[in-house]
Amino acid sequence: MRQTVLNLEASRIREVANAGLGRDDVLAFWFGESDEVTPDFIREAAIESLRAGETFYAHNLGLPELREAIAAYTTRLHGRMDAGRIAVTSGGVNALMLAVQALVDAGDEVVAVTPVWPNLTAQPLIMGARLRRVSLHPQGGAWRLDLQELLDTVTPATKLLVVNAPNNPTGWTLTRAEQQAILDHCRRTGTWILADEVYERLYYGAGAGPLACAPSFLDIAAPEDRLVVAHSFSKSFLMTGWRMGWLVMPPAMTEHMGKLIEFNTSCASVFVQRAAIAAITRTDEVTPRVVAHLRHCRDTLVPLLQALPGVELAAADGGMYAFFRLHGQADSLAVAKRLVAEAGLGLAPGNAFAPEAQGWLRWCFASRDVQRLRLGVERLAGWLEGRQTGAPI
Ligand code: PMP
Repeated sequence: MRQTVLNLEASRIREVANAGLGRDDVLAFWFGESDEVTPDFIREAAIESLRAGETFYAHNLGLPELREAIAAYTTRLHGRMDAGRIAVTSGGVNALMLAVQALVDAGDEVVAVTPVWPNLTAQPLIMGARLRRVSLHPQGGAWRLDLQELLDTVTPATKLLVVNAPNNPTGWTLTRAEQQAILDHCRRTGTWILADEVYERLYYGAGAGPLACAPSFLDIAAPEDRLVVAHSFSKSFLMTGWRMGWLVMPPAMTEHMGKLIEFNTSCASVFVQRAAIAAITRTDEVTPRVVAHLRHCRDTLVPLLQALPGVELAAADGGMYAFFRLHGQADSLAVAKRLVAEAGLGLAPGNAFAPEAQGWLRWCFASRDVQRLRLGVERLAGWLEGRQTGAPI
């Protein structure tokens, strides 16, 4: 087997979740998904497709109707978008991997902004890239970008810049001015940008209108810019298990992406694409409600956590995570495992996302029942009190 693959780290989030396997008393907030089932009308579209016998291979790049629907959706959010720039993928993670396969050769330099969902740093390594990290800096419980540091790191030797904003796990979001500076800089250095914008709709910095959305590179880039944007149906449409996503790329790249899709998955499942068409054309019936509820979850959880001794965090601008520091705790993984075992509370360890997030924990607040969040905080509070007094729990 390739040494690169042998060296890949297994997911630390899974490691914690495995520690809770077989226990139904654990309140689990470790994975990045809502506990709400996909809306009925989306599921119905898949069922209808199967009833109609749509059980065959389809076009590599996705059903033309779905590509058109994604283009129309993108046009609403970001201005004119052509379906010829869109490829349908089998999930956001597949979209990201395809982009990295298309852009990165062994030995290429890739710069990634971290902390970040570990898949984004693992994928370039799988391709044999040399990875350099630009770390966000924690400040009063929030994480901030030192823009100059990023610009200094990205040089003509940098093939690809990977940036995920709104960010998993920190909730950090790029401003329009930062995006513009990064785009201008990458135009000068000839560096590709892979923007993971799967959380763009889960944004709390704007008003609550039906099209509320984080700033996107698509708002400012020209079609021919070296920019690939990865998207997912998982978060904004409550469709994690369906494995459905898409890529936006320069027009000349699309036919080559079709070849890569052929060799990876050949095409996304047709009945899932039918469900995706229903979801994206009727987004206004789903996404604004989901985001309003997530905002409520965030506004419930964050002040409760902030009131606990030794806990430091700021409310995230986007995403669905409370990422907090537990002062006095050096080893996130050990703490996360202890919380499962001793408090029945399932969180993701910060060092799953970057070494510099050691001592931090991620809490996915996408819970239909906010009472679960309150109960989780009570468990954490009890555990902290027990730990501080040295009493067994
Ligand atoms: N990017 C980020 C930053 C994510 O957090 C996730 C899901 N955790 C994805 C991409 C991929 O989502 P999916 O594969 O479910 O579409």
